[in-house]
Amino acid sequence: MQSDIIKWLIHTFVCTLFILFTCVITDFLPLPSATQVNDILSAGYHFVEIGITLWAFLLLLSLLPPIAFCTLYTILGGISAILAFFRYKIGFAFNTIILDVIFQTDFTVSADVLSWQLFVWIVLFVTTSIILSRKRYAYKIQYKHLASIIIIGLSSVCLIIFTSNFSPLANSVRNHLPFNIYSVTQDYLSERQEIKTERPSVFSYATTSEDLIVVAIIGEALRSDHLHCNGYKRQTTPRLEQLGIVSFDNIYSEYIHTNRSVPHILTRADSLNPDRAFSEPSFIDVFKAADYQTTFIANQNPEKPYFYFFSEADTSIRINSGRSFVTFDKWLDGDMLPLYNNIIQRPYNKQLIVLHCIGSHWWYNAHFIKTPDMDSLFTPIVESRVISGADSMAIVNSYDNTILYTDYFLSQVIASLKHKNAIVLFLSDHGEALGEDGKWLHASDPSIKALHETASFVWFSDIYKKKYPTFVAAAHKNCCQRYRTDYFYHSIIDGAHIQTDVLDTTLSIFR
Ligand SMILES: [Zn+2]
Repeated sequence: MQSDIIKWLIHTFVCTLFILFTCVITDFLPLPSATQVNDILSAGYHFVEIGITLWAFLLLLSLLPPIAFCTLYTILGGISAILAFFRYKIGFAFNTIILDVIFQTDFTVSADVLSWQLFVWIVLFVTTSIILSRKRYAYKIQYKHLASIIIIGLSSVCLIIFTSNFSPLANSVRNHLPFNIYSVTQDYLSERQEIKTERPSVFSYATTSEDLIVVAIIGEALRSDHLHCNGYKRQTTPRLEQLGIVSFDNIYSEYIHTNRSVPHILTRADSLNPDRAFSEPSFIDVFKAADYQTTFIANQNPEKPYFYFFSEADTSIRINSGRSFVTFDKWLDGDMLPLYNNIIQRPYNKQLIVLHCIGSHWWYNAHFIKTPDMDSLFTPIVESRVISGADSMAIVNSYDNTILYTDYFLSQVIASLKHKNAIVLFLSDHGEALGEDGKWLHASDPSIKALHETASFVWFSDIYKKKYPTFVAAAHKNCCQRYRTDYFYHSIIDGAHIQTDVLDTTLSIFR
């Protein structure tokens, strides 16, 4: 009896180690800095956390009849092995885009990623999984034995703590193999649901006779007071200043995290009607009605609260789709440029392009490079990805480098528009804490002012300036005015000279 319990524990433990050290470990190999003790301890902690949760899961899975355990373990191992292969070979983290490719694209595209190494790896892995899991036949589980009851109870509690949607401790486990197979599938299904959801138009007419290119850029965690053009002591915006942007240095974002802020910015939501962010379409809907060709290029995974808007555009493209916040590979906004430049060249007279940037999101070092025309970066940059152990000044240096890179990226976006009738509106979703009251990053303490003071500016091409001088003059006049991010929806419609009954000109920065 006792020996059966020990066999049960050992067998599931070995099954756990097998997946842990062949698949899960691929998520932890690209440590940002293997010399940093804090980073190694942090990665080690999450690795053990996943190992314990996986063991708990297999202990519960083994309560099923042996044939069911063997089958499910082999399937779980096989899928993990495929994902680990791509994670290791090309740094591709599993996300909803991959499921989209598998289910929505024809098989010839999916087949491009197949190789003989993958085939050999899967055969070896699945064979070993079958041999290992068949040991389940060597023991029986006595459900009524006290030790079994304790093991089942502890395993259930462990699973709830580390995988449940509502647990604050579940984030790490849910984002890594093999548990992300479940969480990503869940996200994918809810995205499909979002697309199916009906959001009726909120206007009765929307027209324009103007031919124009409108670029809406949603920035990430860019605080207003770190822009040199707003008075910051460091030169972080040399190119944008040269290009003559009009910076709005007094914009207030009520929300301090992406999922809440982006839907608010894109829709007619305001302080009195915040729910519109979750029931109404975005300004893209207005542009489409006014005969604009619309494109949404996302350099962040479109999360459920704003997936609807991503799919609302005529063309929706995700860049860097293999990146996630648990990977530390380079993840640059500049990667959107080749596609963006192609789209700009298309023969449409009216185009709206929405760019959703990764901008200044933590891990900062992944989001900037020194471009050839940059004199220098701010140094030393942060070496550890564990904030609590990192040097404060180095964190700020890395953060400011993301702004230098954003300055470069935006100058490239604008460069393609110089000789066109065009307008660019930029708004960051929220600010970032950089040590205020000992706080860092965002989505933490709403009492920190820097989280709400978000960067915003406008650029006009020369043709636009000539055609609409009163709009340009109004922007200069209003640039120090206090606005909530509610201004964006109305200002972009107004800046595009679209006549529609949904426009509230009192919220336009061009009046
Ligand atoms: Zn954000």
